[in-house]
Formats: sequence, structure tokens, C-alpha cells
Amino acid sequence: MSTDAPASVSPGPAAEAADVTHTYARAGISVRALEGASLKVSRGEVLAVVGPSGSGKSTLLFLLGGLERPDSGAVRVAGVDWASLSGDERARFRRANCGFVVQGMALLPQATAGENVEVPLVLDDVEPAERASRTAEALDRVGLAGERAKLPDQLSGGQQQRVAIARALVGRPTLVLADEPTGNLDSRTGLAVTALLLDAAREGGAAVVMVTHDPTVAAQADRVVEMHSGRLSRTARIGPPATPGGQAGAGPTP
Ligand code: ADP
Ligand code: MG
Repeated sequence: MSTDAPASVSPGPAAEAADVTHTYARAGISVRALEGASLKVSRGEVLAVVGPSGSGKSTLLFLLGGLERPDSGAVRVAGVDWASLSGDERARFRRANCGFVVQGMALLPQATAGENVEVPLVLDDVEPAERASRTAEALDRVGLAGERAKLPDQLSGGQQQRVAIARALVGRPTLVLADEPTGNLDSRTGLAVTALLLDAAREGGAAVVMVTHDPTVAAQADRVVEMHSGRLSRTARIGPPATPGGQAGAGPTP
């Protein structure tokens, strides 16, 4: 079934984790990665998650994107609890609502920039003409209209990450999940790529949850939360938002 319509809009938060715990069990050893983490992010809001390595940041993103299930607590995107969806429904809901940007891009090396961006639309059976126009629009938004036919290794690291951003946004997601999106870029390129991601997401009304260890990247967010041992601490404002006027429901910070 082709679903060109934007994801249904519910008035609540774009995404919410409510008192979530998560344990990885491997080779008889269990690791508690999340320990009662709670989080809400509004449409158009950019939330940065900082914290030491191993504190559970990536796990939180996996749960928000429905890639892992919580032991307890609830995770909702656009008002829908992941737990209420079956396997197939989860995949379809994820494609319609979640865009992922990870460190190292994960682009298909044999596919052009345009083909990489198009992947989510192909999976969703979007009509070819619609696919082409949305792909062109997404590439244009990240400043790569002229690079559509290039392979990833013909592009710079920053350009590759912009392709990954276009791919994350082409499905018009409710929620963009970015895990250290600038981790392998030099700091200037990283800042430029972050600004582009955040502008594009805000323009499209998406919420962004972005894990970063870089304080200058975190400073571009509307709100910053810190993760320690699987728990989120209260908002810690690191700096002013990069884009004044972005409608970020973020109230006063402590
Ligand atoms: P962060 O992204 O903040 O570095 P993670 O969410 O990756 O933290 O990891 C949180 C904890 O869960 C760590 O102790 C890590 O070793 C453990 N962990 C992460 N992924 C797995 C996995 N697939 N299997 C077992 N333990 C894992
Ligand atoms: Mg991580």
C-alpha cells in the first residue's frame, strides 16, 4: 500500500519515553542500559543528549525508534505506543515516522547519492515520479542538488553526511534520531552539518533527538539533557539555540 500522506498528526509530544528500563542480556551477563529514563520532545524541538560513554544514550535512541523494546515503561512516537504495533506495523510505522542519522553514514557504497536518499521511499512503494521529486527536494535542501548521480566515495565526508541527512528527512519523519552525527567529521564541517540537519528538521516540523559529545554541537539544540548510568538528568542549558525563532516549546531552563 502506498502511503504518500504525511504521518497522522496528533497534538501530543512528537516522542515520549516514560520511565523506561532496558536490559541487554548476552552470554549469561545482563547489562542494565536504561534505568527509569523519561523524556518528551515536541514537534519542531531539537533535544541534545549528552553524557559519558556507556551511559545509555544510543540505547535510548534505539528505543525511541522502536529498534529495541523496553523491559518496562512506555515509548510513544506521535502518540502511538511501539508496544501496540506488530512486527510489520513497526517497520512501516518506523519508515513513516522516524529518520535515523548515524555516525559513519551507513550509505550504500554502490548506489548514487540520489539512490541512497530514495531507499526509504522505495521500501514504502512510493510512485516513481513522486520518489524522484521528493528525492530531488531532499537533496536540494541539503545543498547537494548537483551531486545526485555521484557515488558516496566521490563525495567528501561532510557531503556524505548530508546525503544521510537527506535520506533521514525524505520520508517527512515526525522524529529524527541522530547518534553522534558529526562524530567522524572535523569540527567545522560537523557544525555546518548539524546546522543543516537542525534547520531542515525544524522546517519540516520534525522533532530531533541528537546524541553528541561535542558541546558546540549540543549548544545548537533548544534543550540539552544529560544521561548518567541509564538515567536522564534535568535540562542543562549549554548555550543559546543557534536559530532564534525556531518554535521550540522549551520554557525557561534552570
Ligand atoms: P552510550 O551510547 O551512551 O555509549 P549505550 O547505550 O551504547 O551507551 O550502552 C549502554 C550500556 O549497554 C553499556 O554498558 C553498553 O556496554 C551496554 N550495551 C550496549 N549495547 C549492548 C548490546 N548489544 N549487548 C550488550 N550490552 C550492550
Ligand atoms: Mg552510543
